[in-house]
Amino acid sequence: MEENIVSTPVETTAEPAKEAAKEPKKFVKRIPRKKVCAFCQAKTESIDYKDVATLKKYTAEGGKILPRRMTGVCAKHQRILSSAIKRARLVDLLPFKGE
Ligand SMILES: [Zn+2]
Repeated sequence: MEENIVSTPVETTAEPAKEAAKEPKKFVKRIPRKKVCAFCQAKTESIDYKDVATLKKYTAEGGKILPRRMTGVCAKHQRILSSAIKRARLVDLLPFKGE
């Protein structure tokens, strides 16, 4: 008796094996929603250079003016803001760059 052992094809059936090594990609927390200019919302037309608390929010630690893409301030208000910050620097309310 010839027993022809048919080699069963040991094909690994594509079962959804548990991919243990698959880790959820961790991204740095990003805020996807678009920021709206805070000055437009408050309907501020001019920014007081004496308002240091507000101006400080738009300057980095070194006294640098933060870019618009970080603060969400619109172009018009960024211009007003930057001149207000510069004025505040002149009267010693804010530090100059690189200090
Ligand atoms: Zn604005």
